[in-house]
Order: sequence, then C-alpha cells, then structure tokens
Amino acid sequence: MYRQIVVLTGAGISAESGLRTFRDQDGLWEEHKIEDVATPEGYAADPELVEGFYNNRWKQLHGGDVEPNKAHTALARLEQEFDGDLLVVTQNIDDLHERAGSRRLLHMHGELSKGRCPRSRQTFLLRDPFGPEHTCTCCIPAQRLRPHVVWFGEMPIGLDRIQHALDTCDLFIAIGTSGSVYPAAGFVDTANHHGAQTVEVNLVEADRHSQFQYHLQGKASAILPELVEKILSGNIISNKEMSNQEDKPTPAFLSNAN
Ligand SMILES: [Zn+2]
Repeated sequence: MYRQIVVLTGAGISAESGLRTFRDQDGLWEEHKIEDVATPEGYAADPELVEGFYNNRWKQLHGGDVEPNKAHTALARLEQEFDGDLLVVTQNIDDLHERAGSRRLLHMHGELSKGRCPRSRQTFLLRDPFGPEHTCTCCIPAQRLRPHVVWFGEMPIGLDRIQHALDTCDLFIAIGTSGSVYPAAGFVDTANHHGAQTVEVNLVEADRHSQFQYHLQGKASAILPELVEKILSGNIISNKEMSNQEDKPTPAFLSNAN
C-alpha cells in the first residue's frame, strides 16, 4: 500500500475537457506576444490588454461547455478514499479539479478565478471577468487586483510544500504535462531520488530521456479511473514485472496476496 502520493497535472488533463492549452497551435499565445501578456512588464505596460487575455480564458471556462472529465473525478475520488496523504499539484490555472471535488490541491501557476493584491499578496475570488473595478479590501487606498497567475520571471507558488511532499512520497504520478519546464521537470528526479515509484500518463510516447519508471500512454480520462481503482484496492505497481520487459514497458499491477 502507498502511504503518500503526489500527483502533478498539466495542460493535457484540461485539454481533455475542451480547454485550449496555452501552447497549442491555435492557443491564445498565438494572438499575442508572450512578453505582452505573461510577464510583469507586460502587465505594467498595458493592464487592460493582460486582463482581456485572461478574461478570454475565464469566459471559456465559465461558458457552460467545459466540465471536469473522468481524470479529474478519479483524482477527487482518490482524495476522498485514500487512507494516506495525497497532494495534487496542478500547473493549470482553471478550476476543474475543484469542480470535480479535489480540495488538497496546490495551483503552482496560480488561479484564473482569483485576483491578487499587488501589495499584500492576499487573493480574492472573482465572480466575473477582470476589470479595474476589482480592488482589494486589505489596503487603503484599495489596490487594483492583478491576475493571480504566475508569469514568466516569477516564482511558482508553493515550491517548499511541493518539495517536502516529494521528499516523502512513495508514488509520484505526472499527468498530461510535457515535463520539460523547470522546476516541474525536476519533480520526477526528486521523487526517484527518495525511492518513490514514478509514473507518467501522457497522450504522447515517452521521451527517450524520460526519468519516469513507468509510462502510460493514452488519454488521462481513460487511464486514471482504472489507475485510481487499483491504488485504492491496495495494488502497487510492480517493479519485478517491469524489469522483465525491455522495450516500452507497460506497467503491470499485482493483486493483493489474498
Ligand atoms: Zn491590498
């Protein structure tokens, strides 16, 4: 049985709910230069442009067409039924994990549905799209809230807590993330270093240089329900089975002895 699990989710899990991902060919990056809409300097130069950029995503998220998928609900189920510790770290700024029921959740790149006081860093839930009327209640005079989103050149949120969880976890699962951007790209090394099993779930084939011990290729919404079921049933991913396979290993699950 696992005692402590860390799950990292990326754009792929949101894409399966129909959310456009930032770096897709038709993604919103294409309409803007990254430095204009995703840097502190871009925001300082033109806050309305940046707010409009995030409002487009906000409207897509709240348009009624976007719902959590089976991968999100599987992770929420894991949180509810797993006896050990679980932390879901997401690179996504949408709220699909919350809508599915996840609560032990860390948004390392911020949250689309929140604004942040630039002075106190206190965050405020936004019920409608961004605008200059959104001001903080923590300062006099009230400050204009900025998007609670981590921009290029800014530190991801909660790295200490993530590091601590990785240091002590015995299973690390990365879902729908390219795994190429640091610091998230280093999470698997940390988990491996501390003896955890490391599993990657991705639509695309495993990178040749992947540090993950196991690679599950396919849709997260198809793989996660079964994976969570096996974890909750007390099954663990078997190293022994794996080591007998040379090429592209497929994770094998061992049943309980009984
Ligand atoms: Zn304030």
